[in-house]
Amino acid sequence: MTEEKRRDQIAAALAEVEASIAEACRAAGRAREEVTLVAVTKTYPASDVRILADLGIRHVGENRDQEAAVKAHECADLGLTWHFVGQLQTNKARSVVGYADVVHSVDRPRLVEALSREAVRAGREVTCLVQVALDDDPGRGGARQADTAAVADVVAGAPGLRLGGVMAVAPLGEDPARAFARLRDIAESVRAAHPGAGIISAGMSGDMAEAVANGATHLRVGTALLGRRKPLVR
Ligand SMILES: *Cc1c(COP(=O)(O)O)cnc(C)c1O
Repeated sequence: MTEEKRRDQIAAALAEVEASIAEACRAAGRAREEVTLVAVTKTYPASDVRILADLGIRHVGENRDQEAAVKAHECADLGLTWHFVGQLQTNKARSVVGYADVVHSVDRPRLVEALSREAVRAGREVTCLVQVALDDDPGRGGARQADTAAVADVVAGAPGLRLGGVMAVAPLGEDPARAFARLRDIAESVRAAHPGAGIISAGMSGDMAEAVANGATHLRVGTALLGRRKPLVR
């Protein structure tokens, strides 16, 4: 596909996503400005990030460090805010802190310690969201619901890190609206203890409206913007 065709394709998809978000905000009685669109660019090339940036996107998300590090470097001139949204091993903390402004997938004290150490070392402040496993199955990442407050406290006390709020992926097989309602309750208790931690990262291509209805401040949208991803070959 030519660069021009790809641009038209992404522009059309972005317009549709924006219309969906606007409609969801209207339905929820919220202002569009309360919701940040994070374009999840995993598996797509840096050229797509450039197109998105040219179309006004300021926030991009990635889920694998190896890929993200290269892309963030290639796009360093764009001044974008980089969100790391994937499961994260402690041995990748140094690399991720090198480019990520926000890490959405903080789910255990050992990871907090590693991110804190590397942020201090790099002289950076990294915003961290506590990922919540809304089905209490940490297999796909995330702290158990009952452990969320404790992980949030550890982040809040860690040098180099700022507690931003919470993040979740809707569990398979559950109505996302119900799951996101639970996340909203958890977010409220985290915010009661840490007034600056107002971010609720929830909602992907398939459940943006349910997320907005339940207070999401950040939507992480990939497929609806860039198309279906090919299955990952690892
Ligand atoms: C890939 C990914 C997304 C985007 O999902 P889409 O369904 O493609 O919009 C959002 N959040 C996380 C954590 C992801 O890994």
